[in-house]
Amino acid sequence: MNTPALADFRRIVVKVGSSLLVDAQAGGLKESWLVGLTGDLAALHDDKRGRSRDILVVSSGAIALGRAVLKLPNGLLKLEDGQAAAAVGQIALARTWTAALSRHGITAGQVLVTLGDTEERRRYLNARSTITKLLEWRAVPVINENDTVATSEIRYGDNDRLAARVATMVSADLLVLLSDIDGLYDAPPGGNVSARHIPCVARITPEIEAMAGAAGSELSRGGMQTKIEAARIATNGGTHMVIASGRRDHPLEAIAAGARCTWFLTAANPVTARKKWIAGALEPKGVLTIDAGAVAALRGGKSLLPAGVARIDGAFARGDAVIIRGPDGLEVGRGLCAYDAEDARKIRGRASADIASILGFSGRTEMIHRDDLAVGPE
Ligand code: GLU
Repeated sequence: MNTPALADFRRIVVKVGSSLLVDAQAGGLKESWLVGLTGDLAALHDDKRGRSRDILVVSSGAIALGRAVLKLPNGLLKLEDGQAAAAVGQIALARTWTAALSRHGITAGQVLVTLGDTEERRRYLNARSTITKLLEWRAVPVINENDTVATSEIRYGDNDRLAARVATMVSADLLVLLSDIDGLYDAPPGGNVSARHIPCVARITPEIEAMAGAAGSELSRGGMQTKIEAARIATNGGTHMVIASGRRDHPLEAIAAGARCTWFLTAANPVTARKKWIAGALEPKGVLTIDAGAVAALRGGKSLLPAGVARIDGAFARGDAVIIRGPDGLEVGRGLCAYDAEDARKIRGRASADIASILGFSGRTEMIHRDDLAVGPE
């Protein structure tokens, strides 16, 4: 099976594990490795042929770095010790990425998220628009779990799943998991010479799941199981995923040059997957009735502006799904509304430029952004 080429993707999330970034023995950062990786990231961000791509980094290493700075003993940390270590390490981690990317003239933006931020719709919208803004500014979001405030119940626990959620949240077309292993094997590869490498997974079957042993290195909690789980999240959301070894310099260049890795292919495209989710999976909490001009705009792929909204029914919160009806009462589509029902009523029929003076805060220009809209067939 032909696997895709890195250069063909437009928005790429790269997840970096702790054991790749932090040297457990020496207790510090693997500087030269990071220099190689950021060189690869910069080359994708703006390649020499004038093509640019959106790059996002999900970086682990806060706990491992904090542990090194604090000189904590080896072994498993209690939850509060790990969280406090992360408070120390995250500063070092952010500084490291800022410095490494700035060598290529790239600005880094730190984004710390918790499971709730990607699961709960209102915070989801906020996290997504912040990240989208950073990308618009050509910055590279450097994302980690907000370890110091996440409780054990709402922890991701591993950045593989966090990276997959982020990738689908921003409709990335590729997620790269840089790991200490170069992909999936049909048996645990450590010492097992007959273990066969799987280059491409078109569908995650029970057989594929069974191949994921619980193997993992000392520093990373995520073994192959969490990677398969990440692959399920990513591919369901329309994002391809590749697991590749980060245990070499220039790991992304290596993937592009054909190094051994495992691709998980998605059948969907990210925008379609997201729109399907909006159209079907969410229970609508209200109805927006829009004018004929807005119907035409929506059918033409545009966002829904407050000016085109004639009437608002229902009690919904920002981020809730709503039904959109035309002047004839027929359903035009569904979408996630960027305003609470109460605020939406105040700005309905008004120009976006007036939103700030009506509401007293500057909200979004669109009532429903086109990425959050699923317009049905005519
Ligand atoms: N968020 C953790 C850290 O930065 C890492 C979790 C993981 O590696 O999966 O230390």
